[in-house]
Amino acid sequence: MIELRSVSKAYGDRGAVRDLSLSFAEGKTTALIGPSGCGKSTILRLVLGLVRPSAGEVSFDGQTVRLETEQGIRRSIGYVVQEGGLFPHLTAGDNVALMARHLGRAETEIQGRIQELLKLVDLTPDVLSRYPTQLSGGQRQRIGLMRALMLQPKALLLDEPLGALDPMVRAGLQTDLKKIFADLGQTVVLVTHDMGEAAYLADQIVLMRDGEIVQQGTLQDFQERPTSGFVTEFLSAQRGMVAL
Ligand code: ADP
Ligand code: MG
Repeated sequence: MIELRSVSKAYGDRGAVRDLSLSFAEGKTTALIGPSGCGKSTILRLVLGLVRPSAGEVSFDGQTVRLETEQGIRRSIGYVVQEGGLFPHLTAGDNVALMARHLGRAETEIQGRIQELLKLVDLTPDVLSRYPTQLSGGQRQRIGLMRALMLQPKALLLDEPLGALDPMVRAGLQTDLKKIFADLGQTVVLVTHDMGEAAYLADQIVLMRDGEIVQQGTLQDFQERPTSGFVTEFLSAQRGMVAL
């Protein structure tokens, strides 16, 4: 569904992503994990066509991501960022409906879809009339998820969607996300810095460092067959935070 072939992205002379090849299988959830600055968000931005590779090629559903294709591709992808990325001057409901209205979808169709999505993300309709500042962090992320799913995207990219939430809210949303990913059966790429979360939510984990892939597989692969000392170090650094 999503493929990066020998992709590099440099900012100045610094390589954010270095000669990286990676594919995200249809219907699977993949977690991208690694230290801050290792290039996780850059990978999502490359897929969305928000940044261009310095070398190599990115494709989505058989199409190369470039100027002529990026708008169509972006509409086929749901994107959720850490703070929800909602427009503060629009109500939650208007945030969710914005793109569908822009595309001229019928209001009855939009309202029907919103009702479906409310159930999916477990929110009650009263939140729709609130502005983002009047929602809790967890509610904002659920609205962000509704907005991302509004147009029935082929894939869902989430950039540390739970990063800013307190542990209880985070745990609740993790449980719900797992169910939502299973219900949707979509291709999902989830950026996280939490190995417990990656192992819980993803079929496949990609561990990165300095713009390169260190190892990909399951948590068990990392534990039993680490490909380098960094894998073991990364796991033990996480051990204090989560029960692995
Ligand atoms: P991560 O999401 O893993 O924390 P990023 O993909 O955001 O990492 O960033 C990878 C590297 O690229 C970092 O060193 C970051 O400072 C750099 N970088 C990202 N975006 C830009 C930008 N717009 N301009 C300059 N450097 C950037
Ligand atoms: Mg990031």
